[in-house]
Amino acid sequence: MIISFDIGGSAIKGGIAHSETDITPLGRRPTPKDDFTAFVQTLRDIITETGETPSRLSFSIAGVVDPDTQALTCANIPCIHGRNLAADLERELGLPILIANDADCFAIAEAGLGAGRGHRIVLGAILGTGVGGGIVADGRLINEAGGFAGEWGHGPIMATHAGHPPVEIPAYPCGCGQKGCIDTVGGARGMERLHRTLHELDRSSEEIIADWLNGEPNATRTIDVFVDLVASPLALTINITGATIVPVGGGLSSVEPLLAELDKAVRQRILRKFNRPLVVRSQCRVEPGLIGAALLGLKAEAEMAG
Ligand SMILES: [Zn+2]
Repeated sequence: MIISFDIGGSAIKGGIAHSETDITPLGRRPTPKDDFTAFVQTLRDIITETGETPSRLSFSIAGVVDPDTQALTCANIPCIHGRNLAADLERELGLPILIANDADCFAIAEAGLGAGRGHRIVLGAILGTGVGGGIVADGRLINEAGGFAGEWGHGPIMATHAGHPPVEIPAYPCGCGQKGCIDTVGGARGMERLHRTLHELDRSSEEIIADWLNGEPNATRTIDVFVDLVASPLALTINITGATIVPVGGGLSSVEPLLAELDKAVRQRILRKFNRPLVVRSQCRVEPGLIGAALLGLKAEAEMAG
């Protein structure tokens, strides 16, 4: 049995995994952001609550492990930021530890139990507050050792003109230090930014989507530009990876008509032709981080045993 954790900026969630088909979520607790001792104690409390002794702990974290130094970048939880978290937790808890990025956990969850089942190459794409992604090939996560593979949302690549007819789009500065990243326009905050640029209107992504679905002209223009900007880098990523399915997670993935538009635009831009949807809603709607971390942990256990 292993215990998986989903470590977010506001909550730590746990789950017990006996097998791929037997994963049970546990309770959630607030994340101690600034106190590593309290952070470790929260993990201990969740483990104790199960009444069982796990053979391994696996973690989904909104952060990235450096493949060279093993240092974790996780700016919104200062007490774990910069640490070799796996080594530190192994020392504190005396159990093997596996750390994975949350978008990677999403991808492995969809590949194993969701929309990606039966596909050799799965590109999991997150359209949440921002843009993220992970790649699974032949059941294995490309990022097993950490790193950024699958992050299609960053790089100074955004089209300078987009929409029908085309309108000029500025290269917005991104949190990663570059300008013109898809992350600046491809998530909920990006959609709001585009709407502001195009119409000088401050509207929430929920309002923009509701207006779009009602045929309102400003929102229709924003979504047209949004889909045009996001579809090209996503299509390129599909060409490069050979993905045959793109499960989408994050808040915007619940808007089926938006995914349908994106799917249509992406399929027009890729080399391989598919006569079925390629960009689809994810199926692991509940706790993909917990599920993905559990699948990674179970796989590591099976490889140790085998
Ligand atoms: Zn960026």
